[in-house]
Amino acid sequence: MTSPTSRAPGAARCSACEAVCCRLMVVLQPEDHIPDHLTTYLPTGLHVMKRGEDGWCVALNSARMNCGIYETRPSVCRRFVMNGPYCKAIRAEY
Ligand code: SF4
Ligand code: SF4
Repeated sequence: MTSPTSRAPGAARCSACEAVCCRLMVVLQPEDHIPDHLTTYLPTGLHVMKRGEDGWCVALNSARMNCGIYETRPSVCRRFVMNGPYCKAIRAEY
C-alpha cells in the first residue's frame, strides 16, 4: 500500500510483498470516491472495496501486485503503515 522506505533487518518491504494487506476488508469512508464497479455493500450496509475470488481487492494490479488506483485509493489504505503492527501480523499469518 505504501512505497518501500525501510531497510531495517527483517523489515517488510511492499516491493517484496504479495500485497497481503490488499486482502483485508477495506471499509470506505465518506471522503472516498471509488468507482462503483470496484465497490460493494455488505448485508450489514457497510460500503467496502470488492474482493475477487482470489481474495485480493479488485483494484489490485495483479501483474505488478500494486494498487491500480494508487492516487485515489481509499483513506483506510492511505493510513496503513508498512511495518506497522498490523502489517507484521497479517504477513505472519499469510
Ligand atoms: S502487507 Fe505490509 S509490506 Fe505488504 S504490501 Fe501491505 S504494507 Fe506493504
Ligand atoms: S484500494 Fe488499492 S491499496 Fe487499497 S486494498 Fe485495494 S489494491 Fe490495496
